[in-house]
Amino acid sequence: MTKIEDQVDAHVERLVNANLLKMSPYKVADSTGLLKLDAMENPFVWPEALQAQWLESLKSISVNRYPDTSATELVLRIRDKYQISDDCDVLLGNGSDELIQLIAMAVSQSGRPILAPEPSFVMYAMIAQFTGMDYVGVPLTADFELDLERMLKAIEAENPSVIFLAQPNNPTGNLWGDEKLKRIIEAANGLVVIDEAYIAFTDADYLHWLDEYPNLVVMRTFSKVGLAGLRLGMLFGHRGWIEQINKLRLPYNINSLTQHAASFALDHFDVFENQTQELCRQRKQLLQSLGNLPLVKVFPSQANFITVQLAKGDAERVHNALKEQGVLVKKLDGGHELLADCLRITVSTSDENKQLLDALAVSLS
Ligand SMILES: *Cc1c(COP(=O)(O)O)cnc(C)c1O
Repeated sequence: MTKIEDQVDAHVERLVNANLLKMSPYKVADSTGLLKLDAMENPFVWPEALQAQWLESLKSISVNRYPDTSATELVLRIRDKYQISDDCDVLLGNGSDELIQLIAMAVSQSGRPILAPEPSFVMYAMIAQFTGMDYVGVPLTADFELDLERMLKAIEAENPSVIFLAQPNNPTGNLWGDEKLKRIIEAANGLVVIDEAYIAFTDADYLHWLDEYPNLVVMRTFSKVGLAGLRLGMLFGHRGWIEQINKLRLPYNINSLTQHAASFALDHFDVFENQTQELCRQRKQLLQSLGNLPLVKVFPSQANFITVQLAKGDAERVHNALKEQGVLVKKLDGGHELLADCLRITVSTSDENKQLLDALAVSLS
């Protein structure tokens, strides 16, 4: 190393907080040339006529100007689409990842931890770590159900500032049931966030629970319905919560192109809704087909992915064998202990699912 690099390292170690020095960055697998079934993206492209209309409409955007800081037009459409009452407000984030971060920042001074059942969405723990908060993970049962007694005990013992509940849960794909969720919200003396990233693929819908619970906010995203590249997350909550969390939002976090494209998409939302309906049909078929393969377990799913369990110690080998055949899925094994020997597969088009099934059959033989 050169002298200046040594000096840089010394400065960095002196200055950067110890927590951060220990962390590793969020890793995204290289998918070059692979069939991408690892990240719950919608595989469908826009119909050609719609795309042409969209491209034409982009001409009206002045990228030399800052975006509308309140995304007025888009927020109006979202309020209308989701029938948001006057008591509630909407906060937009650069993906719901950013909203999770803003929520954490808003309460990080409390000295109270973030709590979530686990395995769940990894960003809850990561964001706790880089906002300097403690994180408490409460294990699900072996079949990924919420362990209510354990949750209630942890809530009492830890007094969390925020509880994140992903419904359906990622990476387990299931819902935990209204009764258990209600018990948790009622027991919590902090904020409860229901993360509905996969709402489009299930009949469950917790948005109207806002009418009932003062300590609840609900989060959604456009990512899983076909607009992952836009980076648009939505936080719905009573005005008191949104007003405070909004103070932490950087003024221009939703860029002009995203505001415009999301508004455009909302005007044509039936296209995306039809696509998600098709993915729900494909999920049903894929669940059946996976059931015919020699897997240890295929977990039921209310989301656009399916988690499967392989024979003991097989995850690494099968993951690599799939990759060699051009298919990228997510290896969950090596994360949480309940996910040992598990892979997560994004539900895709009929053709792509067939490709996955063929490759998986080869990998398992
Ligand atoms: C994918 C996912 C998100 C992140 O969504 P973005 O809006 O793309 O940041 C949030 N929560 C859960 C549970 C997810 O699986």
